Amino acid sequence: MAEKFLEVKNISKSFAGVHALDDVSFEVRKGEIHCLVGENGSGKSTMIKIIAGVYEPDEGEIIISGKSYKRLHPIDTIREGIQIIYQDFSLFPNFTVAENIALNKQLSENRKFFHKKEAQQVARAALESINIKMDLDSLVGTMSVADKQLIAISRALLQDAKLIIMDEPTTALTGREVKSLFKVINDLKARGISTMFVSHKLNEVLEIADRTMVFRNGKKIIDADAKEFDQSKMVYYMTGRKIESDSYDFGDQNKSGTPLLSLNNLSSTGRFKDVSFDLYKQEVIGVTGLLGSGRTELALALFGINPADKGSIQIEGKAVKINNPQDALKHGIGYVPEDRLTEGLFLEHSIGNNIVVSIVNKLLSKIGLIDKNTKQKEIDTWVKDLSIKTDSADNPAKSLSGGNQQRVVLAKWLASNPRMLILNGPTVGVDIGSKSELHEIIKRLAGEGLGVLVMSDDIPELLHICNRILLMRGGKIVDEFQASQITENELAEKLAEG
Ligand code: ADP
Ligand code: MG
Repeated sequence: MAEKFLEVKNISKSFAGVHALDDVSFEVRKGEIHCLVGENGSGKSTMIKIIAGVYEPDEGEIIISGKSYKRLHPIDTIREGIQIIYQDFSLFPNFTVAENIALNKQLSENRKFFHKKEAQQVARAALESINIKMDLDSLVGTMSVADKQLIAISRALLQDAKLIIMDEPTTALTGREVKSLFKVINDLKARGISTMFVSHKLNEVLEIADRTMVFRNGKKIIDADAKEFDQSKMVYYMTGRKIESDSYDFGDQNKSGTPLLSLNNLSSTGRFKDVSFDLYKQEVIGVTGLLGSGRTELALALFGINPADKGSIQIEGKAVKINNPQDALKHGIGYVPEDRLTEGLFLEHSIGNNIVVSIVNKLLSKIGLIDKNTKQKEIDTWVKDLSIKTDSADNPAKSLSGGNQQRVVLAKWLASNPRMLILNGPTVGVDIGSKSELHEIIKRLAGEGLGVLVMSDDIPELLHICNRILLMRGGKIVDEFQASQITENELAEKLAEG
């Protein structure tokens, strides 16, 4: 085993009574990729700031290369070879790439003047050392997030970094950029440089980590070889709750009788073609496919936003036309859009008004006034039923977390007593814990008789909440799976084919 570089021992830190960190200990070895995961507020950033010398711990010590510190000052941290890459990268937007990379080095050498030519050479070498080519004269302010990150890493290396700590480094990166960042991290590892990678994106952690630790409520819950973890274990450690990973048990006996929804060669020119399937009461069907496969277009057609132009739709055996959202509502179809912030909610309005917006008619008295008591009862019912976390339903919808906003969108549709819900990316941008609660809600609603279509490319989600999964490619359904009979990896491969 490689030798220890950093040792954190029994660190505690409180802010005005809040235990941000409670007796945390761990080690980072030379050349190790050490991942720190935890939900928002679990103490990750506080830990980093203590290592950075920004916060003084209440208790404990930190040992770097054998030297013990009761508290670190930023200068100690840097001298010991620890560099922290914050989310804003602390770069100077009006300076060039070369200046940003070389400036700290020249400053730390107490130079009076900035040597432009030398800066160019230094910066080029630093970038080359991580196999990156970049125009050294570009202004950093004009560059992509991914490039800024590489500049920050190069700069860190110039300060003789032995450990680079990255706080949520992939938040604003595309899939390709994440891959190239991972390549850089692996190259650093080959050079004996350690990385501490802080994230709440589990798939990334599963891919990159040598060692993984999980924080929850300021405590280190587990710290083990990365091989010991899989997605569901990690979720368990993060949330403290066992999250069932079985697929939704629909029970084929429910398939007798008339389907709730029947599509026959439904087509929409240029969008999707010859889509046929049946959805039964209590069934949860996943529709997956890559971007542009037609899954969102299908959802929009079924809700009447972009109506289909060929084929037929039957609801409980009767042919219907869905030419606009009013038609969809009339037939009991609810739609939870992908982008709830712009399509699903009135953010400035109260949580309560968002919930009842689609049933205002039902709340009107004979003389056209809204019945306040009925309205409040309706709101209270849904806040309770979907466990929407708020002090008051009079607060604006924008005061809620992503997961709770999504519950308000669901409540809005459920209040209208639909037969069927179409959920487009139901948990995009939602915290892990809240995500699994939403999943349980969706399964419960289906169990109570609703038919559900889930448009998603989140594979664990599909396998967890659906009984059946349809795969779309180029606007057509090209495959179908029983969720209980396919693994995450198999489905991922099917999705990527094409
Ligand atoms: P994470 O990075 O895992 O999201 P943080 O370390 O930022 O978590 O926060 C841990 C806890 O400490 C949270 O409850 C947070 O509200 C609290 N906290 C963090 N920094 C401060 C601060 N400067 N003042 C008061 N409370 C803080
Ligand atoms: Mg943080």
